[in-house]
Amino acid sequence: MVSEHIAVGLVEDHEISGAIRIYPEDGSGIEGLLGTPAENILQGVVEQIRIVAAGKPIVAIGIGVPGVVRDGIIEESPNLPQVKGLNLEMGLFQAFHTPEGDVPVLVLNNADSLAAGIAVTQGYMDKFVRVWTLGRGVGYGRYPRRDGIWEGGHTVVSLDPKERFCQCGGVGHMEGIVGNRAMRMRFLDLEPEEVFENALAGDARCRDFVRYWHRAIAAATATAIHMDGPGRFFISGSNSKHVDPNLLALLLSEMVKIGPLGGSKMEVMPASDAMAIIGAAVSAEMSALGV
Ligand SMILES: [Zn+2]
Repeated sequence: MVSEHIAVGLVEDHEISGAIRIYPEDGSGIEGLLGTPAENILQGVVEQIRIVAAGKPIVAIGIGVPGVVRDGIIEESPNLPQVKGLNLEMGLFQAFHTPEGDVPVLVLNNADSLAAGIAVTQGYMDKFVRVWTLGRGVGYGRYPRRDGIWEGGHTVVSLDPKERFCQCGGVGHMEGIVGNRAMRMRFLDLEPEEVFENALAGDARCRDFVRYWHRAIAAATATAIHMDGPGRFFISGSNSKHVDPNLLALLLSEMVKIGPLGGSKMEVMPASDAMAIIGAAVSAEMSALGV
């Protein structure tokens, strides 16, 4: 599982077995990763997988990475630019190839791995699960996983040409309103945490923005419902603690009016490395089995 750091774990029977390892091991996190060439990151991941497996046979390897992933290749990775173009699937596949056999590898978007982890750990494996991850940017994940782009964080939620804070450069995007980086750019005088604190304290500018922030999440969710149907939506990531589920439900009910599309549930779900690792591993196992 790759996001702020790389977390590696062994999953047996849908549970973490043993300790989760964090790479870089010196705790330098994303800062340390930024200065590490892609090839070394790959080697580091291979080493960590060998350590957690501790000699046990590996059935499948799943790895969740932020950004656009297609056919095992990282096509775009805004938070870790040097891995753009890296064929992670091939690299891992070759590292674990032995004359006795191969280990199937699945590289998936990290929000998809989290959606799968929620499904596995919360008892929704037979349901349709979608998740928003609210952090520096905004991720969108779904379970069951389907090949595709799914850059739901870039859903257009505003026609205002001044809405141009999204990291991708696109105008009117959900991430440009909801993402941490975008909030910093909008409120040059306040940190995102202060914006939410001030809103609670009654500051009109911050209060209006926090409502607008919720409307952006509701709007992107409404679009997902209009395209893919109703269901369970989870909200995760560092900024999910600022979500008011009742306000979100109210706003969503104003945006989705077609009868059969009603009834979606939105729930805040604190995510952990363990949940995402389980999701990545189970997704890889299901993919290897052709499920
Ligand atoms: Zn965007």
